[in-house]
Amino acid sequence: SLQDRLQSAFKNLRGKGRLTEADIDATAREIRLALLEADVSVSVVRDFVATVKERSAGVEVSRALNPGQQVVKIVNEELIGILGGETRRIRFAKNGPTVIMLAGLQGAGKTTLAGKLGLWLKEQGKSPMLVAADLQRPNAVTQLQVVGQQAGVTVFAPEPGNGTGDPVQVARRAMEEARRTLHDVVVVDTAGRLGIDAELMRQAADIRAAVDPDEVLFVIDAMIGQDAVQTAQAFADGVDFTGVVLTKLDGDARGGAALSVRQVTGRPIMFASTGEKLTDFDVFHPDRMASRILDMGDMLTLIEQAEKAMDAEEATAAAEKLMGGKFTLTDFLAQMEAIAKMGSMTKLLGMMPGMGQYKEQLANFDEREIDKIKAIIYSMTPAERDNPKMIDGSRRARISKGSGTEVKDVNQMVDRFFEASKMMQQMAKGGGVPGMPGMPG
Ligand code: GDP
Ligand code: MG
Repeated sequence: SLQDRLQSAFKNLRGKGRLTEADIDATAREIRLALLEADVSVSVVRDFVATVKERSAGVEVSRALNPGQQVVKIVNEELIGILGGETRRIRFAKNGPTVIMLAGLQGAGKTTLAGKLGLWLKEQGKSPMLVAADLQRPNAVTQLQVVGQQAGVTVFAPEPGNGTGDPVQVARRAMEEARRTLHDVVVVDTAGRLGIDAELMRQAADIRAAVDPDEVLFVIDAMIGQDAVQTAQAFADGVDFTGVVLTKLDGDARGGAALSVRQVTGRPIMFASTGEKLTDFDVFHPDRMASRILDMGDMLTLIEQAEKAMDAEEATAAAEKLMGGKFTLTDFLAQMEAIAKMGSMTKLLGMMPGMGQYKEQLANFDEREIDKIKAIIYSMTPAERDNPKMIDGSRRARISKGSGTEVKDVNQMVDRFFEASKMMQQMAKGGGVPGMPGMPG
């Protein structure tokens, strides 16, 4: 299964301290095969693998996660992305009944879905009405009446013996009836065929024109595999839809349809159906589907926790450093680099509001300055970096020679450091930055 294949793709990364290009290539190849085997459309696979590869190559050494975990995290995030990211909810009409039309091939699960939606809407305090606009098959109307009864919701059906009528007429009459009887949501069940054909599309488009739906849900059997893309595209062109419902996710679905449909049609997956019972139904959650596909729930939780722990640890360490006044030259260098970045930014942006008064200083503080500071700090011993107070005259002479700078440069840098250090301590005590306008000093 897709799950197994993905897991084995990650197996090779386990215990790696660093990812080589070969590791990434091998993993990407495995992921690609896994997705293709799961019937994900070729173009979706291509984009997906390219993105995962690119992001994996950029993975930085992290104390929180090992490279294998980082790649799993990337794959998970990308899966959520192609599944649509956020859950898309039904858009209810402001005035009058909200109309939800169902479209899809025969057997996709539309009629069953009508009952499920009916129950779900009722539970949300709505007053739904189901409309039998499938007059193609003799039993279609009865089937909807049965699920409607199970869900305890009203079903609008053509008169008995009138089952060969015009579905567009039925849909129109249903709208009038819904307004008259104050139903606030109308779910229109329509006919499907075994394959895509012009007549099916025309009828669906006609019903659509007649009821002017707020949502058109394209219902698709998650098990149909490679045909999913073609079918979805045909419905997108023929009727156009606003959302997708995946059905039969309880079956041995390979997951391909789920991953392709959203990307290919640009329409969100809104609901998932996971069984024949009316309650086997839920709003579609991209993140849950992604972890289902990865089947690494525990791993993902672990990754999240490790990251949270690391964030907390780093925040604590930074605070302790400040409080203890243990601001080192290494911290100083990082700070200077940040300021230099700001400087080149102000140059780029011209003037930023509020930055005007610092503009000159920032602009003069450029990369060359940083290179000098870097050279000086690199020429120090670790002990000197940790405890700059020990840097006396003879040490300064040695450092200036080592870094190819002048003694006055070293002096200036050390002075700057002590200034910054004093400032950090003041800030730690809650005193604000001295001399900074707008801050208590
Ligand atoms: P329609 O032709 O699109 O209206 O499809 P139906 O609603 O008649 O469903 C076709 C068959 O699929 C029926 O036997 C349903 O019970 C079954 N079915 C629908 N949704 C699901 C589902 O999510 N899981 C399973 N296992 N079966 C489903
Ligand atoms: Mg049906």
